[in-house]
Amino acid sequence: MLIDNETLRRVTGAILEAGGSTPEEAKIVTDHLVEAHLKGHPSHGVGMIPRYYEALHRDELRPNKTVSVVTDSGPLLIVDGNRGYGQAVAKQATQMAIAKAQTDGFAILGLRNSCHIGRVGTYGEMCAEAGFASIHFVNVIGRTAIVAPHGGTDSRLSTNPMVFAVPATDENPPFVLDMATSRIAMGKARVAMMREEKLPLGYVIGPDGQPSQDPNVMWANPHGALMPLGEHKGYGMAMVCEFFAGMLTGGGTLQPENQTSDTTTNNMLAILMDPNRFVENSYMKHEVDAMIAYAKGSPPADPNEPVLVAGEPERLKHAAMLQDGIDIEENTWEALMAAAETVGLSRQKIAEIQDDGN
Ligand code: NAD
Repeated sequence: MLIDNETLRRVTGAILEAGGSTPEEAKIVTDHLVEAHLKGHPSHGVGMIPRYYEALHRDELRPNKTVSVVTDSGPLLIVDGNRGYGQAVAKQATQMAIAKAQTDGFAILGLRNSCHIGRVGTYGEMCAEAGFASIHFVNVIGRTAIVAPHGGTDSRLSTNPMVFAVPATDENPPFVLDMATSRIAMGKARVAMMREEKLPLGYVIGPDGQPSQDPNVMWANPHGALMPLGEHKGYGMAMVCEFFAGMLTGGGTLQPENQTSDTTTNNMLAILMDPNRFVENSYMKHEVDAMIAYAKGSPPADPNEPVLVAGEPERLKHAAMLQDGIDIEENTWEALMAAAETVGLSRQKIAEIQDDGN
């Protein structure tokens, strides 16, 4: 079904408020989830709410939490997310790190014990918009592993995303590389399952350790595994996320002692750097623009597919989807309605909320 973004925002906000979030928190989480759709990542959109509500009902996700400061020393800030909605506590933590970097030129942020923080590029975009270059490492603990190590036949890692952001120039919007270290994010396997589509070979292995094209293997018992990005290199980067986001923040790595629930817990280490402390602003802009122009100047392999840079596919999809509406598959909508019912919001009420804008 096609739904316009304003209607989806109203429905999502109402579902989150029915789940106990204040209007302010519901808006932060809603904006994050709907923006994920608009930027072409439905895997991190409203289809996550049923998973969040399973955690809410186990009291492993707690609405209306703010971060507590664990360490605030020089450029280092470590905060605890107190099992709050990740979209809210990671936003708050990133705002605190930006404030610190505005004073000192640098900040190193450790966020631990947060529920799922969603599309990690959101935090890189925040840093870039405030004028900082930033690096973000994220790991996932709580639930079991879902990604195989290179050369292995079962899952020992998670999709551990990394983000690298460079601020905008006069000619270019921010460069934001936001990527899972697995071949695909888990949410993309969920979307393929919901759409009853096959995955390309090389994306997953079944519970028997053999290559598979069936996204359902990720929900089988025992389950299969996603493959790491770029073989040993993606495996190595996923381990880097374990050490930087898991170990350095104090949140924990995915070793078996930290697989204690079925709830996604994210830890994030972010490093914010003011480029003006390194080089002249005019030099930064010149080098960024010249390099982007050089990369994009490569003759495209397919004349209909121009060479892009990171962050651009999201911006192109955003512009198109704002106009055309957001496509949500029936299975996802049905799961969202069922999740709403668990917090007392009926389908009838949601239909009325959908009609409110007309
Ligand atoms: P992806 O493969 O769609 O994109 C990865 C990056 O490549 C993006 O920066 C994108 O702009 C860039 N890109 C895509 N096509 C390009 C092209 N043709 N030319 C140049 N650059 C291009 O993303 P993904 O790895 O599937 O991750 C999806 C989302 O899942 C991300 O937002 C990530 O943060 C999120 N995620 C979150 C968690 C979590 O635990 N919170 C875990 C895993 C992934």
